[in-house]
Amino acid sequence: MQFETKAVFTGVNKDKTYNSVITPIYPTSTFRFDAIGKGRGYDYTRSGNPTRAALEENIAALEGGLGCSATCTGMAAVTAALFLCKPGDHIITGDDIYGGTYRLFRYVLEPQGYKFSYLNMRDVDKVKKAVTPQTKMIWIETPSNPLLNIIDLAAIISLAKKKEILTAVDNTFLSPYFQRPIEFGADLVVHSTTKYLNGHSDVVGGAIVYTNKKLEDRVRYLVNALGVSESPYDAWLVLRGVKTLPCRMEAHQANAIKVAQFLEKHPNVKKVYYPGLKSHPQQALIKKQMKGFGGMLSFELDTKKVSLQKFFSKMHLFNLAESLGGVESLIEPPWFMSHASMGEEALKASGITKETIRVSVGLENAKDLIKELEQALKP
Ligand SMILES: *Cc1c(COP(=O)(O)O)cnc(C)c1O
Repeated sequence: MQFETKAVFTGVNKDKTYNSVITPIYPTSTFRFDAIGKGRGYDYTRSGNPTRAALEENIAALEGGLGCSATCTGMAAVTAALFLCKPGDHIITGDDIYGGTYRLFRYVLEPQGYKFSYLNMRDVDKVKKAVTPQTKMIWIETPSNPLLNIIDLAAIISLAKKKEILTAVDNTFLSPYFQRPIEFGADLVVHSTTKYLNGHSDVVGGAIVYTNKKLEDRVRYLVNALGVSESPYDAWLVLRGVKTLPCRMEAHQANAIKVAQFLEKHPNVKKVYYPGLKSHPQQALIKKQMKGFGGMLSFELDTKKVSLQKFFSKMHLFNLAESLGGVESLIEPPWFMSHASMGEEALKASGITKETIRVSVGLENAKDLIKELEQALKP
């Protein structure tokens, strides 16, 4: 089955009672047993729920995994995945990962005794050298957030496999429509379904996709034990969103290309970070592992010409807001908002500046978006 067909079809038609075309919501905490030891597949909604199961089947199919656990937020998915490690274990990750993930690693798990190396993962040699006998997991985000650096999935995953290190890829930015890390050997794929998978900014959720039975058993156990599974209502919304993922991603990308090209030519913009521009320095890698460029871009505003405050005061169509992946365009300065929890030192090390502006390009008409940016960029 092709990707678009899977998105619409997989996991969806399961109502044998009334043949409803759309998956019903099962808003029940518990399920009646026919007799002791004889249930109908579900006993308690934290552990399993038919609406959530439909979503899990769908996302697993889109990523090409064996199965999936849908969680109540993206951070819940990251947390559950990190419980595959224990204090004393070493985890290698990027130095410009999602701010909330960095906060969890640096300020919650490190004090618990987890060890992390935060590296520029574009340098595969650096990753190789950072491996120790305690290294249990490599956590990859590509493209990175907010600077859209591309990490070589095949190279890093193959070096991890040689040492039996788990690889987990946060695939939130591109979604499985544009990138499928399991095709490159990743053990786990993690999502904030809050973003493109749901796509309408009306729910928070996450997902962990696994590739073998051992990981499936452990992750399912953890999600239930930690109590971080997705509510049936939210799972239903995400499932509704996922069905249009392919057309939304195409439209996000078409708009992002136009916006990026406009920004790149503007004299008050110092630099644009977008994988769909020829100026992105990692063309070969982009071709090799991505099926598209996505809808996220960042740029450096020349604040000697236009101040941040003035620029943002002109934003109306663009919402000054964190998050990404919804139908409406969002814009924000990572230094002050989405990535502020990293702290100044880590921000500087990763290359984020006070002038960096991140854009989640929505599905409005690109002409309107460009018109607004043009106004805002006037000195
Ligand atoms: C938003 C996001 C998360 C966290 O997801 P929540 O749903 O906000 O908890 C993790 N990783 C990336 C790349 C994200 O963009």
